[in-house]
Amino acid sequence: MRRKIVVGNWKMNKTWEDARSLLMEINRFASTHKPKCLVIVAPPYPYLDRANDIFMHHVEVAAQNVSQFEKGAYTGEISAEILKSIGVKYVIIGHSERRTIHHETNEIIRDKVATALAHGLNPILCCGETLDQRVEEKHLDTVRAQIETMLDSVSSSQMQNIILAYEPVWAIGTGHTASPHQAQEMHELIRGILKEKYGDRIADETTILYGGSVNSGNADDLFAMPDIDGGLIGGASLNAGDFGSIINASCKHI
Ligand code: PEP
Repeated sequence: MRRKIVVGNWKMNKTWEDARSLLMEINRFASTHKPKCLVIVAPPYPYLDRANDIFMHHVEVAAQNVSQFEKGAYTGEISAEILKSIGVKYVIIGHSERRTIHHETNEIIRDKVATALAHGLNPILCCGETLDQRVEEKHLDTVRAQIETMLDSVSSSQMQNIILAYEPVWAIGTGHTASPHQAQEMHELIRGILKEKYGDRIADETTILYGGSVNSGNADDLFAMPDIDGGLIGGASLNAGDFGSIINASCKHI
C-alpha cells in the first residue's frame, strides 16, 4: 500500500526564533497524535540540521532545493552530498517557483533528480501546468512532458524512492485550489504514465501529492480522491494548528 504523506514547504519564511517555535509546535503535535501518515517539513537551508535535532523520529526534514552539480565552484549552491552528510533524507525538486524565478528546465530538474538519487536522497518531484496551459487545454500534455523528461533516466528500483507532487501553478499561493475532480483527473493521468513506464506495481505504490492552496477547509475533500495521497503545503504549513488539521485530514484516508 502506498504511503500517505504531508509535506510542509516553508519557502523563504521565518527568522530562526519564529522557526524554532514552529518546529517545536509541530514536534509536539506529532509526538502527541503520532500520525499514521508521514510528515515532512522543508524549512530554509540554515535550519535543516537544527530541525532534525528537534524532530528526532517524529517528523522528517526536507531541503527545498538541491544543486544539479556534484561539488566545487558553484557559489551559493548546496549539493546532494552536503545535504546527505547532515542527515537530510528528502528534497523538493522542480517546484514551480524554481522553474519560473530561477529558470529551471525539465532537463535541469532531471539532472537534480539524478544527483539526489545517487546520494541516497528521496526527491519530492513537482510538476504542474500554468493557467494559460490549462485555459488552452494543454495541461495534460504539459504535465506528461514534464514527467517523461524528469523521469527519463530513473529506473524502476529508483522510482521507489521518489514522491511525486502535482502542483498547478495557478493554484500555488493564490487561494485558488484545484477542485478534487480536476486534481484527481491529473493524478490519474500521472499514475497512468507511471504504469506505462514502470508497470502496475510501481504505479500503484508511488505516492502522488497534491499542492496548491490546500488548507484545513479543503484538505479532506482533496485527500478523499482515490489517487491523491496527501499534500505539499505552502502557506498553511506556517501555522502549526492549520498544518496539524491537514495532517489529520490525510491520516483519515489511510
Ligand atoms: C507550495 O509552495 O508548494 C504550495 C503548494 O503553496 P501554497 O500551499 O501556499 O499554495
